[in-house]
This record gives sequence, C-alpha cells and structure tokens, in this order.
Amino acid sequence: MENPNICLALTGETLKKNEETARKYSGYVDIFELRADFLNHSELPLIAEFTGMVDKKVILTVRRERDGGKYRESEASRVNLIKAALSGKFDFVDVEEDLRDREYEKLITSSGAVVIRSFHDFDNVPENLVSRMRKMAVSGKEIVKAAVMPKSTADLLSVFKAAGELKDLKKILIGMGDYGFSTRVLASRLGSFLTYTSALNEHQAAPGHIDPETMEEVYRFSAIDESTRLFGIIGNPIGHTLSPKIHNPAYRKLNMNAVYVPFKVDDVKAFFELADLLQVQGFSVTIPHKGNVIPFLRKKDPATEKTGACNTVVRTAEGWQGHNTDVDGFLYPLVRHYKGSFPRGIKVTVIGAGGAARAVVHALAESGCSVLILNRTASKAEKLAENFGCKWASLDSEGLKMMEDFSELIVQTTNAGMEPDTTLDPLEGYSFKGNEIVYEIIYKPLITRFLSRAREKGCTVITGDKMLLAQAWRQFKLFTGHEYPENI
Ligand code: NAP
Repeated sequence: MENPNICLALTGETLKKNEETARKYSGYVDIFELRADFLNHSELPLIAEFTGMVDKKVILTVRRERDGGKYRESEASRVNLIKAALSGKFDFVDVEEDLRDREYEKLITSSGAVVIRSFHDFDNVPENLVSRMRKMAVSGKEIVKAAVMPKSTADLLSVFKAAGELKDLKKILIGMGDYGFSTRVLASRLGSFLTYTSALNEHQAAPGHIDPETMEEVYRFSAIDESTRLFGIIGNPIGHTLSPKIHNPAYRKLNMNAVYVPFKVDDVKAFFELADLLQVQGFSVTIPHKGNVIPFLRKKDPATEKTGACNTVVRTAEGWQGHNTDVDGFLYPLVRHYKGSFPRGIKVTVIGAGGAARAVVHALAESGCSVLILNRTASKAEKLAENFGCKWASLDSEGLKMMEDFSELIVQTTNAGMEPDTTLDPLEGYSFKGNEIVYEIIYKPLITRFLSRAREKGCTVITGDKMLLAQAWRQFKLFTGHEYPENI
C-alpha cells in the first residue's frame, strides 16, 4: 500500500489567504483541501479559480454545519455551488454519505474528480463502523471516509480494529479529538489514503488537527511504514506532554525507523490490548497511570518495586517489563550540582506525597538523606514517610516549623503552580532565606511562582526540565538499546 498523504485543510476567509497558507506549508503537504464553507460569501463564485492558484492536488469540500462545517444555506444551493465549481477541475470532491444523488456524482466524476464519500460522527464511534463503510463503497472508485469521535481507549481500539477489517478498502479513517490523535499520525497503520492537518494559529478544521510541519518534522509522518517501531506515552490528560519532542528527534538523528506517539488513556487494560494490536515496543507512563500499569507487568525493576510507580514499560520476549526512570532522572541534576558526590546525610524537605514524590523520596532515602515530607493531605505524607523511614507533617504552620531544620534542599513535587493554574504556590507561608537549594519538578511553566520567590531571595534553583530530560534519556536507552544522542 502507498504511504498516506498529508492534506492541509484551508480554512481562510478568502482564496488569497488560502493561497498564502498553501504556499507557506507547500513543502510538507501532498494535497490541499479547500474548505469553501469557511470562505466569505463574495468569494464563492470564484472557487473554480483556486486549483490554478496552488501547486498540489485539491479536494473541494463545502461542509454543512451538522457535519462540523460552517455552511448554513440550503442543500440545493450547496450542490449548485459545487456543480458551478467543477469547471476548476478539482482532483477530489467530498460528498456526504447521505447525499444519494447519482446524477450529481456522475457530474463530479466526469469533471475528472474522485468522490470522497464521507460521514462524520462527533459523538461516538458507531458500532456498525465496518459495515457502514463497506456500504459506502458504491462504485468501487470512490474513497470512503469516516471521521468518528473516540471517547475512550476502548473506542480507539475499535477504530484500529475496524481498520484491520477494512484493509482492502480505499479509505480515510480518522479518530477525532484527544483520544483519536494517534490515528492521525498512524494513518499508514489504518491504511488511510491521507491524514488531515490545519495551519498553525488558524481555525482547526476538525478537533485534533496539528499543523503539517509538526506532522512531518516531529512525527516524520511520511517515513512511517509497516516496519516502523512504535513507541509512545500514555496519560490523562496528555495534551501538554513534551515527550514526543524529546524522543522523535533522537530517532531521526540515529536514523532509526521509529515513532513516538501520545495516547490519551482512560483504561490501561484497553491500552495494553491496543499495544498488542499495534505491536507497540515500549511506552512512557504519566499521570494518573504510573500505578495502574503495574498489574500488567511481567517483571519490575527494583525502583518500580520499591516506589510502586512505573513510568517506563518495555516489551520483552517474556512480556511487559516495568522500570522507573524518574528515580535516576530526579537525581541526575542534583548529582551534577554537587559535582558528582551527593552529600550523604543532608536534610531535605519534600513537598507532596503523590506518584512523583514516591520516586523522589526513594531516590533521596537511597542517597542517605534525612527527609521530611509535607503534604496537603497529611495521611498520604504519613504513609509515604512510613515506607521510607522519613519524618512527615501536614502542609501547614506546624509543617513549616519542622522545615526550619530540613531546608538545605527543598524539593517541590506537587501540581500546585503547574499550568493552567499558575497562580498557586504550595509553600506560600515559607520565607526563603537564600541559602536553600530549591528543586521543583514542574516543567510547565519552567519558573513557577514558588521558584520565582526562591530565585528572588538568591536560592540556587533547579527546574523540572532537567529531570524530564534525564528520565527520558534513560527511557530512550531502555526502548532502543542506544544512548540518547548528543546535541539535540
Ligand atoms: P499526583 O500523584 O497526582 O500527586 C499530586 C500531588 O500534588 C499530591 O501530593 C497533592 O496533594 C499535591 N497537590 C495537588 N494540588 C495541590 C495544591 N493546590 N496545593 C498543595 N498540594 C497540591 O501527581 P504526580 O505524578 O506526583 O505529579 C506531580 C507533578 O510532578 C506534576 O506537575 C508533574 O508534571 C510533575 N512531574 C515532573 C516530572 C519531571 O520529569 N520533571 C516527572 C514526574 C512528575 P494531595 O495528596 O493533598 O492531593
């Protein structure tokens, strides 16, 4: 099967604007889709001219409101608009499944265009997806398109399964929204004719579009084929993840045929089934699944065993193996700060008692530090402290008082201050003295309110991107067997 095309949906209000956008992305795009439903009314009589304004094949689409478009006028005027535009010799015309007008379709095909027969479901993945798509292939010459909305990992699994049953069909099969994102990058695994993209900072033609440059430069879309090794990250939410931008460039640099894709996951069991179906070779794990993956692991490294949290899952001949690279990733910038000899016995406060704190406390305890854990929910601090032989307190005035003796190093592991709510500061009542080393593992934003207060007082600060990179480098080695390349 041919590799799928990248299609850029053009949603400008004028043909001129679309021409400019097309020119900007031309190097990354195989096909343009003129979304004529976004055009100003005065542009509509000129649609036929658009094919002469761009250097690639063009799909003509006039999408109705109920299918996620902007065209509000009658069905008759929509059909007339398309008929009048056919003199422009479009390469493809999108025709909705319910528009069963064979004469109209004949006009389209005799103009030289291929029909893309489409349906959109913004609420679900229909149970009859396979039979419905089969029925849509009427002439055998059209491309059958379904854009559906997976609302869970199980839904996403059903989209990939449907693709497996429709291997022989010339089709475009898309899962929209966050759950469906992987179907856009992995169009070749679905046997799709194309993947849709939208220009950066313009109307997204459908939920989940990314821009063509990211599709090609980050995900190397046109290099993905049957033999591409698949890696990824699971979490919920997952939209903020930076990991694809860390792993994918390294595959490129080492000339490896591999891709790393984010998966929004609500149900880990369904994801393991999907991972088998797609032959995922390994994946990173983020909030809230670091504990949830553990029952599915055949083997665990000592850090996963001790922390009860796993951030790296690797396929092996014996089954899935779990690792925790957060532990070493957390220590890496500290060891560098202390120039290789991490001082044993220093007194450290850890703010937070969630999944990340488990890795942090384990790393510090193993390194011989005395640790005080402060958490909003005191019972969680107590439980974590019991596991690792630490002191604990609630995140209140009593905790702040205890901190006075544990402030050589302060490690902030809570979500407080992370985007989107950047106004929060988990340690509001604490006044920095200026001689503390303050390490925060949040990386979005890089400097939170908390860290900015510490910096103003002259503290040495360590930002969360250092840990993020260090844990990813270790994952890369576990996934591929190669060291993460330098100078990326
Ligand atoms: P988690 O398991 O959900 O734990 C969240 C922690 O934050 C809990 O201790 C929670 O306290 C506390 N918290 C949440 N909102 C708070 C607030 N408004 N005030 C005070 N405490 C609050 O999450 P996690 O997996 O530990 O992740 C925490 C952070 O670490 C995230 O920002 C994540 O991105 C970051 N992280 C970074 C890296 C890296 O490589 N840099 C790696 C892993 C995680 P309660 O127990 O009271 O709810």
